[in-house]
Amino acid sequence: MINSTKRTKIVATIGPASSDPEMIRSMLHAGMNVARINFSHGSQEQHIETISTLRRISNEEDIVLGLLGDLQGPKIRLGDFDPIYMNAGDKIKFSLDGSIEGTYGLPHQELFEALSSGSKMIIGDGEMDLEVVENDGTILTCRSIYEGELKQRKGINTPGTTHSIPSITEKDRKDLAFICQFELDFVALSFVRSAEDILELRELMESHGKSIPIIAKIEKFEAMKNLKKIAKVANGMMVARGDLGLDMPTEQLPMLQKEIIAVGNRYGIPVITATQMLASMETSPRPTRAEASDIANAILDGSDAVMLSNETAMGRHPTLAIQTMANIAQNTEKEFPYKAWRTKRKAIAKLGNISDAISTSSCNLAEQINAQMIVTSTMSGYTARQISRHRPVTPIYAVTPLIKTRRQLTLLWGVECVRMGQIESTDEMITESIAAIESRDTNIHLEKGDLIVLTGGVPFGKTGHTNLIQVHEVQLDSV
Ligand code: PEP
Repeated sequence: MINSTKRTKIVATIGPASSDPEMIRSMLHAGMNVARINFSHGSQEQHIETISTLRRISNEEDIVLGLLGDLQGPKIRLGDFDPIYMNAGDKIKFSLDGSIEGTYGLPHQELFEALSSGSKMIIGDGEMDLEVVENDGTILTCRSIYEGELKQRKGINTPGTTHSIPSITEKDRKDLAFICQFELDFVALSFVRSAEDILELRELMESHGKSIPIIAKIEKFEAMKNLKKIAKVANGMMVARGDLGLDMPTEQLPMLQKEIIAVGNRYGIPVITATQMLASMETSPRPTRAEASDIANAILDGSDAVMLSNETAMGRHPTLAIQTMANIAQNTEKEFPYKAWRTKRKAIAKLGNISDAISTSSCNLAEQINAQMIVTSTMSGYTARQISRHRPVTPIYAVTPLIKTRRQLTLLWGVECVRMGQIESTDEMITESIAAIESRDTNIHLEKGDLIVLTGGVPFGKTGHTNLIQVHEVQLDSV
């Protein structure tokens, strides 16, 4: 059963704290809409087990769950060595494999080609900052800006430096083949730099005979430069604040977040705001007040979904974190500036096709006649996506016979998915979809005279041609 009270979607990362079937069951009921499988961790055997448990439990509970496979991408890391304590100003030397005396490993030839005196290297989650003093192509000499401990295998961000490390690694290729084989619903690509990265991934996917929606993780300064081009070819974007906040000055992050979300909305693709949203709940049962405000602001900015990472993957309270996020979302949605949003977005949101025009009209119409719901009969989910980005106050129901479409709609703000059989006529669309919605949603009790705005494509069953908009008035004893 749906209890359609929360409109913002929640992406929860699965990890050791959330792999137990009963934990997954309670996370689903708390409001998890999409489960993120992070391919930076775990083996393919473990992923098989996770996918089968997630699918089994969501089927048992009859809750639609999207599965997102998050590819590691070209993560740059330090080599293997014992921890090194450094004072501010101390120098350290790196070579490719650390075999030259007095050097430590930095196993990325491309960095020896790209870094120069003055370049910055931010280590881990920002625990250490190094500045390049000299680079002779073989030995890189750096100075530590702060006191701290440099630990092996830590990630490295190089703000402002463009390097030539390929965007899709060998590991990503293997993981993508796995994601295609197990037919996950979304694939996220880390450290995207350009639209070409997305096109390359799509081509690779096509070689596996699949077309899975691609979420571009925006976490590099190059991606910010190419944001619009990326949004035009991606199927969604993630504000990956962890790395973005290192690759670009942290003080710019709040406005970058707003920019990414606005561009996503403008191009009609969903945006996930991610990382440290409830970081304190990894250990505490209560969020910080700043975190509560952060989630609300991400929703007010226009995020379709908000994401939990370590909170659900390794934290002490995975279900409570989701519940907390859902409660914050629900409260924020009560005050969402629905009317102002559509006026503001109207000027920038035209995609110039019939489906988009019908989506805009259905939202205006629903508001004008105070409709109970907007029902969109969809095969690909495209029209539901366009309706969602207008943020109508009216509930949106997407009815479709396709499970794949229902799962792919789990990321979209405000869209509830309902299964419906194949239909052949407009009358059938009305009766079947309303019956399907009423039997699924505990909040819907239609009464005589209630109005419903419906959209669909005639003839039915074809994809990509929404051409119908209709108002239906509910009759007594029947729909
Ligand atoms: C991030 O950097 O914020 C992010 C979501 O990516 P990952 O969790 O893969 O580091």
